[in-house]
Amino acid sequence: MSKEEKNMGSKSPVSKNEELTVTIEDLTYQGMGVAKVDHYPLFIENALPTEKVKVHVLKASKNYGFAKVIERLSTSDQRVEVPENHYLQTGIAPLQHLNYAAQLEFKRNQISELLNKVHLKNVEVAPTIGMDEPYHYRNKAQVPVRAVNGKLETGFFKKNSHTFVPLEDFLIQDKRIDEVIKEVRDVLRKFNIEAYDERKHSGVIKHIMVRRGYYTHEVMVVLVTRSKRIPMQDQIVEAIQTKCPDVCSIIQNVNQVSTNVILGKQDKLLAGKKQIKDQLNGITFNISPQSFYQVNPSQTEKLYQTVVKGANLTGKETVIDAYCGIGTISLTLAAKAAKVYGVEIVPEAIIDAKLNAAANGIENTQFETGMAEEWMQKWEEQGIKPDVIVVDPPRKGLAESLIESAVKMNPDKIVYVSCNPATLVRDLQLFLGKGYTIEQPTQPVDQFPQTVHVESVTVLSRR
Ligand code: SAH
Repeated sequence: MSKEEKNMGSKSPVSKNEELTVTIEDLTYQGMGVAKVDHYPLFIENALPTEKVKVHVLKASKNYGFAKVIERLSTSDQRVEVPENHYLQTGIAPLQHLNYAAQLEFKRNQISELLNKVHLKNVEVAPTIGMDEPYHYRNKAQVPVRAVNGKLETGFFKKNSHTFVPLEDFLIQDKRIDEVIKEVRDVLRKFNIEAYDERKHSGVIKHIMVRRGYYTHEVMVVLVTRSKRIPMQDQIVEAIQTKCPDVCSIIQNVNQVSTNVILGKQDKLLAGKKQIKDQLNGITFNISPQSFYQVNPSQTEKLYQTVVKGANLTGKETVIDAYCGIGTISLTLAAKAAKVYGVEIVPEAIIDAKLNAAANGIENTQFETGMAEEWMQKWEEQGIKPDVIVVDPPRKGLAESLIESAVKMNPDKIVYVSCNPATLVRDLQLFLGKGYTIEQPTQPVDQFPQTVHVESVTVLSRR
């Protein structure tokens, strides 16, 4: 009988509320420390490999448990001392306590371990491309608004809880965004606007969303409301514009249902423009409140440059950009290709992609709304022969049918942009079994410093 089986049959070696001293051996992909008690794993927040900690057991199920640090008895040399651990608890910045060099290695290592597990040991993983200043990078914030002791506050909810904590410095958001949130909060206070109350499902303002152009410095403020009407609306809009002259778009988004989806379907322009502009690698993009737009602009430029390098275009090629969003990768590649086809499931994003192509005077792109799986098959049946296919799927990765259509079109290269190493490795195995090889190292690019997200680019070439 293996040790695991022995554990499954018996009770756990620890019990709830027990206190014990353990040494952290590993870090999960979610950033939790792992200690083993007679091969039984205990998951512990804010604990790093090599650290000796005294813990209190919070939960002990049959095969694993959770514990909380009461006292740290030794400290990892990779630990960053955190003034307050709010961010850790929230999940805003679950790796904040790990130094940045170690974060970059943690991400590289995650991909290489997954490759090793499926015996793809000869696929190399390059060192993660990181940021010089890995804080205050997010160009978008969505901050809940609640009342605390009768006062309207902006802040965050603690991870896995309904505890709301007021906060002004969000650590990973553009500093100007944090300032604008504070100004808007003060304006709402001044006009005695009621914050949303979850229990009673009453009040006016649920969230403040702010987006800011990295190069243009244009700011969009979206007031997400429960009610259709905002009392004192004109005065509030005027006050925000006076306090923050860089706000060039103020939008109300009505979301009357109480789910954890932040934005409702309805946007109402209160002042200024419907969209703000920004640039990536010199190309201008219009961004609507609902559009998907990468949140770390300077790293996104590096990510796309990695795609450009991997695609290695000469100007003659036909390219497919599957999962194209508002066309950011398509338009980046268009100048170096004969023709680029993009497909995306969100209709508004495709409207933006077409507008963005026109705004940049790019005429060799064709965008389609629909499922990438279906369009890839259609294009294959229409006899389109792409030289390069770029895929940038959501976390669940690629459907097998899409991989089959891609391979049937016989491109020289497939450039796989991934936000989930587990599905990346699963999908790479399929491509490798169908006549493709990986000659260049997989390149992780850190799009989300202080968090556990792992983004990477892998180039597959036809054998
Ligand atoms: N390449 C873009 C977007 C990547 S995010 C960028 O870098 O900005 C992934 C995109 O895939 C999202 O825009 C999402 O709406 C879209 N998507 C999700 N499932 C899809 C599907 N089955 N078919 C087409 N697009 C899909």
